[in-house]
Amino acid sequence: MSFVLPPPPLPSVALAKGTERFAVRRIFCVGRNYAAHAREMGKDPDREPPFFFMKPADALVDSGSTIPYPPQTKELHYEMEMVVALGKGGFNVLREKALDLVFGYGCGIDFTRRDLQQQAKDMGRPWDFGKGFDRSAPCAPLSRVAEVGHPDKGRIWLSVNGVVKQDADLAELIWPIPDVISILSQSMRLAPGDLIYSGTPAGVGAVKPGDKIAGGVIGLTDIAIEIGAPENN
Ligand code: MN
Repeated sequence: MSFVLPPPPLPSVALAKGTERFAVRRIFCVGRNYAAHAREMGKDPDREPPFFFMKPADALVDSGSTIPYPPQTKELHYEMEMVVALGKGGFNVLREKALDLVFGYGCGIDFTRRDLQQQAKDMGRPWDFGKGFDRSAPCAPLSRVAEVGHPDKGRIWLSVNGVVKQDADLAELIWPIPDVISILSQSMRLAPGDLIYSGTPAGVGAVKPGDKIAGGVIGLTDIAIEIGAPENN
């Protein structure tokens, strides 16, 4: 096969061990999956079915990067999340079989242009430009299931300039990972290379150029991102 232009680079995430990388197909994100975060966003966290949105795979950024402050926003928010990386696909996957699809886990930041997201909500428009902008999906190196098992409890945290802003426990997920995978697979045929950002706990907030963000999930490799000056051209 030949192409009129060079094919775009394949999005990928580093692994915690070794030099190989995990090629990424799609990025799914779960909305409001911790009750305290749902409340801080003005929503009732009662067990409504989970809902999903997506980011383009080329929004991925490696840990250790500096991200230029994105355009068109005055309210760039961090959202610390555990990231599930799928090594197998499936459609209508049973909850009891869902974890069989998982290749490994990492932690990531679901960067959000909160003002654009809010405007979209108010106007009944899509969230895409509030959520799926350039470099909106930093992801730390992934650990394989064989190394870390299936994390379902333990600390998830994020700090800005050394001050802890988010501090919660994976056990607080409204929809645990097996439910998330099973329910998502009812809408989309999942595939190897898909990532799922599993939702953020309470404490989201704004950052500005110069801020240093660090975060992690217990047992997984931490993430570190710095916010840089806005891009000019
Ligand atoms: Mn999120």
